[in-house]
Amino acid sequence: MSDNATIPHLTVVTHPLVQHKLSIMRDKSTSTSKFRQLLREISMLLAYEATRELPTVNVKIDTPICEMDAPMLQGRKMALVSILRAGNGLLDGVLELIPAARVGFVGLYRDPETLQPVEYYCKLPSELEERWTVVVDPMLATGNSSAAAVDMLKKAGARHIVFMCLLAAPEGVQRMKEAHPDVRIVTAALDEKLNDHGYIVPGLGDAGDRMFGTK
Ligand code: URA
Repeated sequence: MSDNATIPHLTVVTHPLVQHKLSIMRDKSTSTSKFRQLLREISMLLAYEATRELPTVNVKIDTPICEMDAPMLQGRKMALVSILRAGNGLLDGVLELIPAARVGFVGLYRDPETLQPVEYYCKLPSELEERWTVVVDPMLATGNSSAAAVDMLKKAGARHIVFMCLLAAPEGVQRMKEAHPDVRIVTAALDEKLNDHGYIVPGLGDAGDRMFGTK
């Protein structure tokens, strides 16, 4: 089995468990509760890849046999930032893995006239410049709101940023690459394209609606 499909800016997690769960999530007959459960599970598997470069520090511990210098994460040095509202579905699973991480939220809406993202909410952890930051949003579609959210994080001081999503469209990957070439994207799949309504094809529909049962 091949490794993850990685080009420097993009990592597609090709692991069979991830792909299996994603296929069930794509299926329109999958219920809201099943969708949420799978999202939680898949977010942990994606987080495994998104946190690959986290620094560790050696801490002296005693095993039952001897003393050793054991590598440990500095959990408090991590920030998870959810892009509202769909990001929250990915956030839960990641927080389960890294409970000491600090959490921020970014809310953006699209101005109907300019079609540009406009900030309506931003609450971020302090000292972002010292933290490793994972931004979570299930759908990297046009990339406009993702790029704007990363702009906000960088203005607040963030330097080490990974963008974690469930699905990415080539248009969104390109937009992020141009705006933030230093930000690695970790995704479960790179889909074919966007349709005229800005939905990812083949995609899974509206991620927020699928996870919260709204329409
Ligand atoms: N947001 C979604 O929820 N779905 C898409 O396909 C694109 C953006």
